[in-house]
Amino acid sequence: MNRLFDWLRAWDDLVFPPKPLCPFCAREGCLDLGCCRVCLDSLAVKWEAVKMHGYSCYSLLPYQGFARELIHKMKYQNGREIAAAFGILLSRALQEEPSLASVNYLVPVPLHPSRLARRGFNQAALLADNISRGWRRPVFKGVVRAKKTGPQSNLGYNERNFNLRGAFQVLPGFNLRGKRCLIVDDVITSGFTFRALAQVIESYGGKPRGVFLARTEIL
Ligand SMILES: [Zn+2]
Repeated sequence: MNRLFDWLRAWDDLVFPPKPLCPFCAREGCLDLGCCRVCLDSLAVKWEAVKMHGYSCYSLLPYQGFARELIHKMKYQNGREIAAAFGILLSRALQEEPSLASVNYLVPVPLHPSRLARRGFNQAALLADNISRGWRRPVFKGVVRAKKTGPQSNLGYNERNFNLRGAFQVLPGFNLRGKRCLIVDDVITSGFTFRALAQVIESYGGKPRGVFLARTEIL
């Protein structure tokens, strides 16, 4: 009997290939959107346009509950599959956003090499790579984090600005003149890091905007 069931299952898999499991919950079948229906509901997706330090920005999720849990997992448990699924969701949202249709480059916020070595990957770069797959925009690789900056959260306004001065640099040989650049990051809080990168892009003649996976309410 068991062999009959094995045979039937194999036949069924052949006719209806099994859907890959959802990378967020590993229980349900994955939709084309990169995760299952249950997780999609729990994420409470809400695409929002916001101004950050005068720049146009967009975000996909409120940084709370299930979304917050998953983002934490993505960052601290080597969550490449989670980043890939979030990238698919973001690429779908970006395809639907007419005001970003003219974007030339995705610019993930770079990590300092020492932090990159410790963490093993840059979650912003992973998001950008996966957005790029769905939305067909190249990822700009010519900007680096030249200065190691400590945590921003305990600093005041002026200290944050000072802390980030000279943090990002565009490498020689890369040109951003006239290019519309979409800065990509996982979570936006006060936006000081975003602004520092946006200013560097602007100083090279680029036109920066931002997209973030999640936003905190403390703006
Ligand atoms: Zn799921």
